[in-house]
Amino acid sequence: MLERALAYLEEKHTCPHCNTELSLCHAPPMHVGDGLGWGSEFLFICLNNECSLFTKGWEYIETQYGHVGSYRYMEIPNSKESYNMMVAGESAFTGSVVDVEALKQQNARYKSEKEAVAKLDTCVEARDLGPVLFLLTDNAANITDRKRAASLLPAINDLSCIEALRNHDFSNTQLEQDINLAINKILANHFLRECPYCAELIKSRAKVCKHCSKEVV
Ligand SMILES: [Zn+2]
Ligand SMILES: [Zn+2]
Repeated sequence: MLERALAYLEEKHTCPHCNTELSLCHAPPMHVGDGLGWGSEFLFICLNNECSLFTKGWEYIETQYGHVGSYRYMEIPNSKESYNMMVAGESAFTGSVVDVEALKQQNARYKSEKEAVAKLDTCVEARDLGPVLFLLTDNAANITDRKRAASLLPAINDLSCIEALRNHDFSNTQLEQDINLAINKILANHFLRECPYCAELIKSRAKVCKHCSKEVV
């Protein structure tokens, strides 16, 4: 859906009634009136309140149907289909305009995720914590990829991952457990543990924490 919306952003549609560029909008769930789907999750709509179709529509609908309403001009993306869509007021569809900036950001995030996933194959060999941390600290990333990233942590064996992971709020308890186990393995590999009082890393066999001076059993 995201990629389709981005492709549509490249399309330029112009209203034949007012020459205004049409706005890319999320399609309403149903075709108003006949209950059929639009066949597209996006529509290009003329939202110009000065558009002649819209300004003349009020009188026409009043005379023809005896109720308050007008028309907005719309086109189906990637097609030659167009409609005059009946609307009840000025605000119709203004809330469904696609947020282009948000869409671009979402796309950038999606691309970074794909790149990180592709690097999982080589990150152990390269001792590259980057892609693993990226996926683990991005709660929107695919959960299967995140679990795979967690399983690679002990092999990369890099203590510097601990701080970032301890400070992240995981929304998935299963993943959080996997990560806790992985951190325990990394600590064991280095003969270290976390001080139960100040959370700094200390030697496993230390009896007093060198950071907070508390006795640790
Ligand atoms: Zn127009
Ligand atoms: Zn301590």
